[in-house]
Amino acid sequence: MTRDPKHDILFEPVRIGPKTLRNRFYQVPHCTGFGAEKPGSQARFRGMKAEGGWAAVNTEEALISTDTDYWPVVSTRVWDEDDLRNLSLMCDEAHKHGSLAGIELTHGGVHADGRESRRPSLGPSQLASDYHPFVVPKAMELSDIRRVREDWVRAAKLSRDAGFDIVYVYGGHSYLPLQFLSPFYNKRTDEYGGSLENRARFWLETLEEVRAAVGDDCAIAVRLCVEALGPAGVELDEGTGFVVLADHLVDLWDVNVGSITDWSKDSGASRFFQEGYQLQWTGRVREVTAKPIVGVGRLTSPDRMAEIIRSGAWDLIGAARPSISDPFLPKKIEEGRYGEIRECIGCNVCIMKAEWGNHIGCTQNATAGEEYRRGWHPEQFEPAANADNDVLVVGAGPAGMECAIVLGKRGFRRVHLVDAASEIGGVMRWIPRLPGLGEWARFLNWRAVQLEKLKNIEVITGTELSAQDIREYGAEIVVVATGARWAADGLNAYTHASMPGADASLPYVLTPEQIMLEGKAVPGKRVVVYDAEGYFVAAGLAEKLVEEGYDVELATCLERIAPVTDETLEGPMLRQHLHDIGVGQRAGFLASEMGEGFMRGTDEFGEPVELETDAVVLVTQRLSNEALYLELAQDLDGLRGEGIEALYRIGDCVAPRIIAEASFDGHRLAREIDADDPATPLPYTRERIVLESAAIGS
Ligand code: ADP
Ligand code: SF4
Repeated sequence: MTRDPKHDILFEPVRIGPKTLRNRFYQVPHCTGFGAEKPGSQARFRGMKAEGGWAAVNTEEALISTDTDYWPVVSTRVWDEDDLRNLSLMCDEAHKHGSLAGIELTHGGVHADGRESRRPSLGPSQLASDYHPFVVPKAMELSDIRRVREDWVRAAKLSRDAGFDIVYVYGGHSYLPLQFLSPFYNKRTDEYGGSLENRARFWLETLEEVRAAVGDDCAIAVRLCVEALGPAGVELDEGTGFVVLADHLVDLWDVNVGSITDWSKDSGASRFFQEGYQLQWTGRVREVTAKPIVGVGRLTSPDRMAEIIRSGAWDLIGAARPSISDPFLPKKIEEGRYGEIRECIGCNVCIMKAEWGNHIGCTQNATAGEEYRRGWHPEQFEPAANADNDVLVVGAGPAGMECAIVLGKRGFRRVHLVDAASEIGGVMRWIPRLPGLGEWARFLNWRAVQLEKLKNIEVITGTELSAQDIREYGAEIVVVATGARWAADGLNAYTHASMPGADASLPYVLTPEQIMLEGKAVPGKRVVVYDAEGYFVAAGLAEKLVEEGYDVELATCLERIAPVTDETLEGPMLRQHLHDIGVGQRAGFLASEMGEGFMRGTDEFGEPVELETDAVVLVTQRLSNEALYLELAQDLDGLRGEGIEALYRIGDCVAPRIIAEASFDGHRLAREIDADDPATPLPYTRERIVLESAAIGS
């Protein structure tokens, strides 16, 4: 395989101040849930990207002092030298692979609510945070302004000494420097408020001082949302106006759009944003600077990347999500292994899994976040000690496909992946057909290519296996990955009972699979989609049915429509979109019974509500398809007599979960299939404080 020469441009070195990037691939700062609190995870996670060819890897926000504290959202902290000692591991990992390490020094200003430090937040003016409306900051006195600048300089020096090559003066998503710059936050009447020059003063002074302190040793980067796409920042003319004012102090412009409250427009989900979507704004920065520019936009296409560089708009291809989904994306392009690229699907589960004390994970890349604590490498697989066995994987959904691929890569003699359906994919046969989720098909596409390439895997579709079939199959190891189904009787979290009248064998009661896979017709004109789950399925079906001409009401017993999509930054735009296309939305409706023509229940205050409808789609909860596994498991001795040495189950068949978890489960089993007890996950390395003695002093 050779690289297409038109992509050569992506592998040119780029100079930023005193440092040189070895190519044009740049991992922009992004959250992980690691910070300085999980130094091993931080180091290996970023180091893996360095190994995969990213010329620079950056931390997430690195908070410069105790008056900027977001706990329990884990950001990197640069509060003392111990934090930097932890972060120096990341620098070592980056340098080992020839990459630069960057640190996104940050002060959150009004948005940092000080839950751990108990310090008041600070802002240019005393205006409640639009991110945490309960938080009202202290309006900064001149002494505060001076001290924050000093904190920034101190943090920059510590960062340099720890080995960082790139130091940010980050204002990006409406944090303190941008709060000074933005008239939405800054109502000051002194020399730090008023004109653009005055509002820029805090950022410029900080940049000057940081540059004077470390500018000979480190590249100075600024991350700036050049267009807030909402009130919480600046519009493009002032964004580029600031670039003009600060250009002489900056070695690298890292530009994006949105704000903390409109982060959904920066980390845009594929449901609403196409690859390269930020260019229309960030592409304009070139008009005012000749300095290197990095931009983002969920870029995974090498053609598109090369085109952007050739156009002169940016000098570097920035990525957060594409680098999570495939840490080896640059290497794969470099070596012309285009078909191997695991393209981000734009689901934002990585965000759901990185915020609020979580640990990052990814739908496409089951190894994301597991590099250190489980020692997983996305591209390397140990030969299994028991590889001279045949494995039967029953069910080719996310769990079964991922498991089979990893088993194949671990060198098993034969892996049979068998599915009752005529195509592989399980839930991924229909989820990408929901409106807006087309890009999610990449999950299946990548796996289909892998399954095709691995010669020790045979995929057999259209074959439903019974327990007896499995006993007679001839495999020594059996993995059941038969997935889950939606309850057909309205069983749900709120009543823990089926709903009187709800029975999906009736023509006017439907489940998601009946609509998406079985082609069951929705009778009449009016449809209620009843959601007790809160993620994307009910909203997707409501949209699909509206597109087909039905009058649709999306009713939920939850407090808001599709609340889980708030965790993936889709919620507000999704609800607006449903509104715009005419889906009725009713939150707080707890259904208690239904029948032909109606659904009855109560509103959030217990008042009775009756909805007239011709059909009801039940999206209440899923149940594992576990009968096959349980039947086999009840006679393990008998199985041994048939030559089956081990039986496992994975994915939704164990418990219905998001795709990322089903896939992870399959991956995990295959990675540990030669452990003493593969059914039980091996312990992973936990990063925490362990006292050397129980004494804590008097
Ligand atoms: P997961 O997310 O855990 O991978 P899915 O529900 O997406 O689960 O996929 C489960 C797959 O298992 C489906 O494609 C289904 O057709 C298949 N399946 C279920 N039961 C059997 C069976 N007895 N024999 C073969 N395939 C089965
Ligand atoms: Fe992309 Fe989804 Fe993975 Fe995030 S979780 S990197 S959005 S595939």
